[in-house]
Amino acid sequence: MTTETREFQTEIKQLLHLMINSLYSHPEIFLRELISNASDAIDKLRFRAQTEQHLLADGEEPEIRLDVDPEKRILSVSDNGVGMTREEVVEQIGTIAKSGTRQFTEALSRREGGAVPPELIGQFGVGFYSSFMVADRVELVTRAAGTDAAVRWESDGSGSYTIGAAERPRPGTTVILHLREPGEDGQDFTREWTLRAIVKKYSDFVTYPVRLEVEREETPTTADGKPIEGAKPEKKRRVETLNSMKPLWNKRAAEVKAEEYREFYHHLSHDWGEPLETVHVNAEGMTEYNAIMFIPARAGFELFMPDRKSAMQLYVKRVFITDNCEELMPPYLRFVRGVVDSADLSLNISREMLQHDRRVLLIKKNLVKKLLDTFAAMLEQEREKYLTFWEQFGPVLKEGMHYDAEQREKLQDLLLFASTAGGDLTTLKEYVARMPEGQKEIYYVTGEERAALARAPHLEALKAKGFEVLLMTDPVDEWVLQGLTSYDEKPLKSAAKGDFSVAGEDEGEDAKKEREAASERFKPLLKWLGEQLGGQVKEVRVSSRLTDSPVCLVADEYDLSPAMERLLKASGQEVPERKRIMEVNPGHDLLQLLRARYVDNPSDPLLPEYARLLLDQALLTEGSSPVDPVEFGRRVARLMVEAAQR
Ligand code: ADP
Repeated sequence: MTTETREFQTEIKQLLHLMINSLYSHPEIFLRELISNASDAIDKLRFRAQTEQHLLADGEEPEIRLDVDPEKRILSVSDNGVGMTREEVVEQIGTIAKSGTRQFTEALSRREGGAVPPELIGQFGVGFYSSFMVADRVELVTRAAGTDAAVRWESDGSGSYTIGAAERPRPGTTVILHLREPGEDGQDFTREWTLRAIVKKYSDFVTYPVRLEVEREETPTTADGKPIEGAKPEKKRRVETLNSMKPLWNKRAAEVKAEEYREFYHHLSHDWGEPLETVHVNAEGMTEYNAIMFIPARAGFELFMPDRKSAMQLYVKRVFITDNCEELMPPYLRFVRGVVDSADLSLNISREMLQHDRRVLLIKKNLVKKLLDTFAAMLEQEREKYLTFWEQFGPVLKEGMHYDAEQREKLQDLLLFASTAGGDLTTLKEYVARMPEGQKEIYYVTGEERAALARAPHLEALKAKGFEVLLMTDPVDEWVLQGLTSYDEKPLKSAAKGDFSVAGEDEGEDAKKEREAASERFKPLLKWLGEQLGGQVKEVRVSSRLTDSPVCLVADEYDLSPAMERLLKASGQEVPERKRIMEVNPGHDLLQLLRARYVDNPSDPLLPEYARLLLDQALLTEGSSPVDPVEFGRRVARLMVEAAQR
């Protein structure tokens, strides 16, 4: 195998440039990243070894090893995990910029001065490249499990790297850092106590030992261990394990310190921030398992990527089995990060088996219940915090209303909506509690923008009655509604669909009569309008929704809403052509004038113009375009000229 020099992919070049040239407030996290990679590599090997047993060398136990050479200023991190082939190194370390790389470089270049805070690095998971915060040259020697050939990769972080053959007695990976001189008050990463403190702080619960060879002065002892009097202390070298490896999840919740949860969260998520909420379960009885679940404070940018998987890890009796375990968490809770460890499952459990294992299903069910209860308690007791949670993860959680019928009851109480009542978002329960006497239904409208929706003509009569309307602006809401036809025995009703009398049952006889009389009076005009606009609308009728506006369009009870229609069209789907109903307000001056003109002269040339304008106006107020925007513009201009000449 020849040694060759290759260029980094452009995005990685930019990233490395920033790694080398920015000032970091916590450069020591490079070690956490390398230990994390090492631990992942051992996880991967153990996972593969379940089916390829020959991959595990006899008697070799998993280990992450730190070695230092203070004179040469070298620190190396070795593992006996899966290692990488030459192709994998080229891909993983030189070519594939992870999804967050661009966002990271952008975020960094936007910053003005000052040290880069660690959450920036954590958030985007720049991993291995963080080595260049502290080293001016990095070597990586690796040998993939099951192969004989090792590879050496080397770079000073400027634009290119070399790759060639190497020797490595066993599979695994060693990352060799040629450290820069520590600055004035910088940390020296070749010192035992520095390394000890960093490992303790960031990687204590890594499930494999992180070891370092240390030097100690010891007084020689006799065979039975007593110090020999007068003997000079001798320098002894021995290997020590720096991390406790205590799986935090197997401790009782009461024994774990907040600090420990925090570090574990960092380790698990690479997110430097604090988790919004931590849920620790020690389950006993039918199925025994321990779990720690974290709700992050922010939704990662990848949350809505189609291939985003669950972020749960599964352990069996403290042995890592798999991460991204979808069998443990439904997709609508994919933002939850955590670990489950069960003593009841078999160490040889395969992916296939996971899907059908009754105990796994039961654990999943319990975890979901636990999480939903946690959210409910947060909503009840810590509204502000719940609002943060909702803002970040509400749209994802709502998917559950559609996909998880079993949890619908619980989920519907967690939903928040904007409403015409103004102020904060409201729950359905709170909405119902505010319903005035005589209101029988829960009203809502869907659309894109809260402010525009709140002013929609469809709501006029409802508002006049003092009936609140929920303003649903999230595209997912359309799906939510399919699973939510009523709440607390009160039907949910769209203010923009179907025929309804807002007055409800308490509409007095007089009001009813008045409406019927208006319909009668307007009948000839409406019939004529219907004929004029026949190509565009299904029907023209007198509205009971409008008080101020002259006109609006409504859908039939089971038709798509205009917002949904636009959404489907935008995503390139074919939407069946279907006409809507135009409703007019008989109390509006415009309609009264039109009626008078029509009665006077049904072939008045102004009338067809007005008919078209009425329809276009209705379209505009709901956020759609006029039938023919150019024609609409001309018509308005003509009328303006006429009005101005008067
Ligand atoms: P991340 O670990 O977040 O995926 P890194 O940049 O740290 O990102 O690493 C990129 C990839 O390189 C890893 O996903 C892994 O496939 C590979 N890799 C890094 N370190 C090791 C290691 N010690 N052993 C095996 N593979 C590794």
